[in-house]
Amino acid sequence: METILVAGANGKTGREIIEILKGTPGYKPLAMIRKEEQKATFDLMEVDTILADLEGDLRAAAKKADKIIFAAGSGGHTPPEKTIDVDQNGAINLIDQAKAAGVKKFVMLSSMGVADPKNGPEDLRHYLEAKKVADDHLKACFMEYSIVRPGYLTTGDKTNKIRAGESLGEFGKISRKDVAQVLVDCLEDGIAQNRAFEILSGDIGIEFALREIPNNR
Ligand code: NAP
Repeated sequence: METILVAGANGKTGREIIEILKGTPGYKPLAMIRKEEQKATFDLMEVDTILADLEGDLRAAAKKADKIIFAAGSGGHTPPEKTIDVDQNGAINLIDQAKAAGVKKFVMLSSMGVADPKNGPEDLRHYLEAKKVADDHLKACFMEYSIVRPGYLTTGDKTNKIRAGESLGEFGKISRKDVAQVLVDCLEDGIAQNRAFEILSGDIGIEFALREIPNNR
């Protein structure tokens, strides 16, 4: 049984990830939360929690993890400096502690547009740039990873179908439920290994679409 630490477990995508992990044989979710009062929700689901803040000491959280999904973020309505503190430096903090703890794979929820922030919408540029610094750090740190870059996240249903590729060449949408499934599937060794790729809603089964992404070992 592998323990999967989910950073941002209390968020909208994070909760979908926890649900999927609960029902996936071989995985035991560990919800990383930052407020004591958030624990009750996870207790009801019989999911273990650990209190940790991306801006604080993450050593204990990383040491408990076999693999990690990063689904946290400062949100669109925070001051720009929070984007640097959380989406960039918070992610780097967790990547560094994961590396030090010997975590076997780090799955990053990134965003479409991160590969080339200069060409992204101006109001998102600081966010895309911060995410790129974090993604580049992950790529350079000699830990196994997958970097998943979805388009606009919706509250739509799970379809289990996507389009995936290094660069899809257009913007679009995808449900958080489908994104969560992609992130969980990427935990498996040999799936999108050491690759960054974009996803949108589509008509190809997730499992098949991910196996079409060449690994980079
Ligand atoms: P969300 O509901 O806002 O969840 C973000 C989570 O991050 C929350 O649980 C929050 O904790 C946690 N968090 C924030 N600061 C933290 C810190 N310092 N330490 C630990 N945890 C912290 O976000 P979402 O809608 O699920 O989206 C997840 C991510 O997807 C976004 O952050 C973004 O990077 C990426 N993304 C979004 C879109 C989009 O269209 N929205 C598109 C592409 C990619 P609390 O619950 O305690 O507040």
